[in-house]
Amino acid sequence: MSNPSLSVECPNCGLLTARFLDHCRNDGYKLWPSSQMASAAFKAWRDADPARAEAARYDMELPPEPIDITVDYAARAHQLGIHLFPNSNYPFIICVGAFFLALAAIPFSGTARIVLAVIGGLIFLYGVVGWVLVEDVRMFPADSPQTHGEVHH
Ligand SMILES: [Zn+2]
Repeated sequence: MSNPSLSVECPNCGLLTARFLDHCRNDGYKLWPSSQMASAAFKAWRDADPARAEAARYDMELPPEPIDITVDYAARAHQLGIHLFPNSNYPFIICVGAFFLALAAIPFSGTARIVLAVIGGLIFLYGVVGWVLVEDVRMFPADSPQTHGEVHH
């Protein structure tokens, strides 16, 4: 029970095998009188230590701790001096503006085309200004070569 190892040397063949399987993996030597007894022993062993909760009966060693591989790409890009555009809804607004601009390209009557072009242009510019000039500056307040001299290319 206190032995933390999940593997054991088989008394018959001497090779390492899972400790709580009733047969040796290498030569089928019967390590436990029955599978039920091996299972009960495994459950008692597992419950003796919360660190063993993730272990499985057929494991040879405890599973490793899960590794946190989350990466903050925005922070990483900032550190490397790479410019990322901010996550934003403004590209949708830009697309709506482009839609009206495209409608203005259809040969309707002159005034309808001018009205569509003005509406589309305003929406388009609003989106571009919001995305590039407002949100981008807010995300990179000091994104200039002077302050980033050591990583600037
Ligand atoms: Zn064996």
